[in-house]
Amino acid sequence: MQPSNPLEKFKIESVIASFSRRQDGNMSLCFGDTRDALENRGKFLTSLGIDYRNLITAKQVHGKNVKYVGQENKGNGALDYESSVMDTDGFITDQPGVPLAVLTADCLSVFIYDPKRPAIAILHAGWRGTEQNISQEGVRAMQNKFGSQPKDLLVGFGPSIRSCCFQVEDDFKSNFAFGLAAKDGRVFMDIALINQRQLIDCGVRAGNIFDPALCTFSDDDFFSFRKEAKDAGRLISVMMLK
Ligand SMILES: [Zn+2]
Repeated sequence: MQPSNPLEKFKIESVIASFSRRQDGNMSLCFGDTRDALENRGKFLTSLGIDYRNLITAKQVHGKNVKYVGQENKGNGALDYESSVMDTDGFITDQPGVPLAVLTADCLSVFIYDPKRPAIAILHAGWRGTEQNISQEGVRAMQNKFGSQPKDLLVGFGPSIRSCCFQVEDDFKSNFAFGLAAKDGRVFMDIALINQRQLIDCGVRAGNIFDPALCTFSDDDFFSFRKEAKDAGRLISVMMLK
């Protein structure tokens, strides 16, 4: 099995970063079969050295808001969906022991680490968030709040639906200048490739971005909203400064 650490390439020891797989169970308290979600979170996060009761999650809205969270936000969305942080699709923090998470099924999770500060960000980037350039919003938030330099940032991607499977409408061409590929008269989108380009465009080094290139639709190891619709569970992408 391929590694589930999106920052694997960088051999970082001061950060926990990981995403779950189907076998770890549904991690959403809101979507799919939620009955075992808390237990699933408990098992998965404990294996990483994270107390699941401290987890911070968002009521994700496919927007571009990125919020700073700290010790006082620990546990928001950990035990019930209602207490999740409102209206945001990304988190940043420079505080150790504060676990940040996004939940996805086809959308891309983006993990960002600034080893200089140190500080971290985690983002939820579906096609709508990608269209609104949430990756650059994340980098900007780290620049504004922490004084991060884009050239120092290390980035890893979680699994997402890829251009092998993500057919989109023709009119996507007018909204995305790159990252679309034509195949047999149909248009396919590569969310990860577009986010990679957006990150490079705001100063992140290409060599500092790691893309494990995992497709949630092709690979049964992951939940896929396109494939499973309302029954789809969610995988969790989680990041914490030690
Ligand atoms: Zn695929």
